Amino acid sequence: MRAKERAQLAVERLKAVYPAISELDHANPFQMLVATILSAQTTDRSVNAVTPRLFASYPDAAALAHADPLAVEAIIKPTGFFHTKARTIIAASAALVERFHGEVPPRLDDLVTLPGVGRKTANVVLGVAFGVPGFAVDTHVIRLTRRLGLTTSSDPVKIEAGVTRMIPPADWTGFSLRLILHGRRVCLARVPKCPQCVMNDFCPSSTVRAARGRRPLTATGTRVRLSHARGSTAKRSGRSRARR
Ligand code: SF4
Repeated sequence: MRAKERAQLAVERLKAVYPAISELDHANPFQMLVATILSAQTTDRSVNAVTPRLFASYPDAAALAHADPLAVEAIIKPTGFFHTKARTIIAASAALVERFHGEVPPRLDDLVTLPGVGRKTANVVLGVAFGVPGFAVDTHVIRLTRRLGLTTSSDPVKIEAGVTRMIPPADWTGFSLRLILHGRRVCLARVPKCPQCVMNDFCPSSTVRAARGRRPLTATGTRVRLSHARGSTAKRSGRSRARR
């Protein structure tokens, strides 16, 4: 099976399991932008725990642009890196006021000019807040697209370019959001739960396929390295040898 066919199959399988949603609570593009910046290096749950108070105190870009950094830090502290994050969301808000009339622009080229906003954040905001197709590449998307054999790269820009060539724009946002949900719940970083995965019959890294004796192949026909499977096996043998 070619990588493009696997990508299209993955889109369909994940559609049947997950909604195309972000787990960050938000009511408008400004809140989505701020919540996405705050979500770096932390969980959506910890962001959702602080944003109601943050947005009650600073309901729009104009209000947050003039906020006291120490007051913002006190609110967002549970999300970690609060010193930097406070200054980033204040600076991004000031840029919105100065250059975009206080509104979040619905264009990637404009979004990435804001402080603290890279392609990942911009694509999330575009897709979730504006319904504009965007394929956001975070750590889960990097891991899953590699395991699914859709890329051999770890470069988010190359992965975005490659995957968006394989599937139609209408699927970009949903596929990215669903890969993130699948990465959090099933295709975990350390040990993927392949027996519970809806893609285990065609994923080249599936331990289920390997266990059935089918040699997993990449799109080019070369053998896939099952690093996570070998790692777990090695650990198990090590433990059994230690017991003997
Ligand atoms: S089969 Fe396993 S490695 Fe492949 S996507 Fe599913 S959980 Fe991840």
